[in-house]
Amino acid sequence: MLESYHLSTNREGFTNITSIVEQVLEKSGVSDGLCVVFCPHTTAGITINENADPDVVRDMLLGLAKAFPDRAEFRHVEGNSTAHLKASCVGSSVTVPVQGGRLVLGTWQGIYFCEFDGPRNRTFYVKVING
Ligand code: ZN
Repeated sequence: MLESYHLSTNREGFTNITSIVEQVLEKSGVSDGLCVVFCPHTTAGITINENADPDVVRDMLLGLAKAFPDRAEFRHVEGNSTAHLKASCVGSSVTVPVQGGRLVLGTWQGIYFCEFDGPRNRTFYVKVING
C-alpha cells in the first residue's frame, strides 16, 4: 500500500507529519516492519528531528541558511540552488522501524516535511512494509 498526501507550504519551513504517518501505519494493520516516508521533490525533503522545542526547527533553518547561502557563482537558471542544496542535505526520505504496530521513534523525535522553495503544493508518500 502506497499512500500519497498533499500539503500547501510556506516559503520555507518544516511541517510535522508524524501523525499522518501514524494514521497510515494504523490503517495498514502492519504490526512489525518498516515505514518509509518519501518526498518526490528536488527542493523539499524529509527529515527526523526534535518535536518538543519549536526553536530547534527555527535553528535548523538558520543553520542551513548559513551553510548554504545564495552565491553569485551559481549557474542554475531557476535561481533556487540553495533550495536544491538544502534538500539534498536533509535527504528525500526516512525509514522508521515498526514494532507492535507503532513507529519506533525516540521520545523527542518527529517526522518533518521540509520546504525550501515554497510556497508550493507538495506531495509526499508513505509506504508500510510488513516483515
Ligand atoms: Zn531549481
